[in-house]
Amino acid sequence: MNPSPHNQDERTIVTEPNPTEPASKNFIQIEIEKDFASKPQLAGRTVATRFPPEPNGYLHIGHAKSICLNFGLARTYGGTCNLRFDDTNPSKENDEYVQSIMNDVRWLGFEWSNLHYASDYFAQLYEWAVQLVRDGKAFVCDLTFDEMRAYRGTLTEPGKNSPSRDRSVAENLELLERMKKGEFADGTRTLRAKIDMSAPNINLRDPVIYRIMHAHHHRTGDDWCIYPMYDWAHGQSDSIENITHSICTLEFENHRPLYDWFCQNLGIYHPRQMEFARMNLTYTVMSKRKLLQLVNEKHVEGWDDPRMPTISGLRRRGYTPESLHLFCDRIGVARFNSTIDVIVLENSIRDHLNSVASRYMAVLDPIKVVLTNYPDTTEYLDAVNNPEDESAGVRQLPFSKELYIERDDFMETPPSKFFRLKPGGEVRLRYAYIIRCDEVVKDVDGNIVQLNCTYDADTKSGSPNATERKVKGTIHWVSAPQAAKVKVRLYDRLFVNEHPEDAPEGKTFLDNINPNSIKVIDAMVEPALANLEIGTRVQFERNGYYCVDTKDSKPNAPVFNRIVTLKDTWAKISAKS
Ligand code: ATP
Ligand code: MG
Repeated sequence: MNPSPHNQDERTIVTEPNPTEPASKNFIQIEIEKDFASKPQLAGRTVATRFPPEPNGYLHIGHAKSICLNFGLARTYGGTCNLRFDDTNPSKENDEYVQSIMNDVRWLGFEWSNLHYASDYFAQLYEWAVQLVRDGKAFVCDLTFDEMRAYRGTLTEPGKNSPSRDRSVAENLELLERMKKGEFADGTRTLRAKIDMSAPNINLRDPVIYRIMHAHHHRTGDDWCIYPMYDWAHGQSDSIENITHSICTLEFENHRPLYDWFCQNLGIYHPRQMEFARMNLTYTVMSKRKLLQLVNEKHVEGWDDPRMPTISGLRRRGYTPESLHLFCDRIGVARFNSTIDVIVLENSIRDHLNSVASRYMAVLDPIKVVLTNYPDTTEYLDAVNNPEDESAGVRQLPFSKELYIERDDFMETPPSKFFRLKPGGEVRLRYAYIIRCDEVVKDVDGNIVQLNCTYDADTKSGSPNATERKVKGTIHWVSAPQAAKVKVRLYDRLFVNEHPEDAPEGKTFLDNINPNSIKVIDAMVEPALANLEIGTRVQFERNGYYCVDTKDSKPNAPVFNRIVTLKDTWAKISAKS
């Protein structure tokens, strides 16, 4: 393939592509509208796109971009979008992948107009191959793949014609038939288009149409032992399905002349191929081959490991379909390759969950507080479920004389700007009272095990007196007797390097795996958190957004995945007030 002039831009990291602007029309929409206004073959039609994954792995966030684009265009223009499995390479494909892809597309909120498999077109593709041979435009070639490479030439040198190029039509037809019947071993012959071995675009140098592969196909079984190459299958499948715009990523730009050549030389309906930039993301890898390697070599727990950039991994982590749509809108549709800063993805889920997730109290690294002047009773305090959504209502939060607070909300010898709890200092407990730390209790090794405090009964949040006395810090807490102990998985980036593929000589992307990408802790949380339905997404106040894991949670024993931390605004706000 010729090198694409765009690839050199891949290293540019895009941090804030389009955070607030309403999405304007992208270049693909502009071209599509022009085509419908000017091309007679589109008269009376609406846009018809397709999403064409190869079922050789699970979908990743890059595919989400392509899904939102293709299905989104159909939605915008009242057109259609097909889901087509590009299943032309039986050795790597299977039905598990097919099922997961359908599941992911639906989870993103899309339904295909028609479901197709490129393998459904194998008979038609073969007939067209026979047609090309009859027209003297294809030939059976005896070169091995290695020999073919030697004959192909380079970017600066033309290739050489294959010794088989001048076979008669009759001989080609017979050999093709025998290839199909299985008379030849894998790799011994190919069917090639007869185009031009000196074409500047190497894709036009007599490209292979069929290869021999005695492999079992997940749908056609052993019916075929020759399989079409991507270029032979793709455009013709688009043509059969009457696709108007075949949208693919930039690496296929150099294949477009071949796409066009096949449609033109077969005399069939000719869709327009258009290319956009592949989406790359910092701190992760996106090629299915590498993701498969992470899974197979057990660097992660599976395709849906919450650290994976797969749609199933992001879903399990707690990402919402809305957040992925928001992300895709924000990054827009680019013409040049670049890498998106993963922060843009993280901000998308923050922005969505900020408006919909209920807030709860959870203490991840607890230290006990005893209110020495509080009675031996439990009182129930009103807590707002979501300040961004009044309809989410309030809940009752138990409060008692024994509490947990976050270990790092207390400092024995703090710096001057520390506005949380310190010896002799005061802090507000969210939704509750102002407390003062009177005594620090330590074990024999000098570790702090308990803080003895007093509370001021006149300072209850919401009461008339509450506003009279100001303290600078507000912290979260849970009541110890009612607290539930739950597992929390703190996830970090899977790779330590912005571009994990950048590895020194002799190393690979695997050497850039972050050894601390997961930390599992026990947290003390308010009782309501113990009984959430699996998949529920919540905010732990002052900390981050979490999701009840769909696989590892048990009734009354949830496991929480950290989706993303909160931006650190809370600390600043409480410092200011
Ligand atoms: P990979 O190289 O990761 O295996 P692929 O391109 O081989 O990906 P396909 O299953 O062939 O994966 O992709 C289906 C569709 O999704 C194609 O149209 C492809 O262009 C698009 N796509 C794949 N990866 C990305 C990406 N990173 N950004 C945008 N679109 C993508
Ligand atoms: Mg592919």
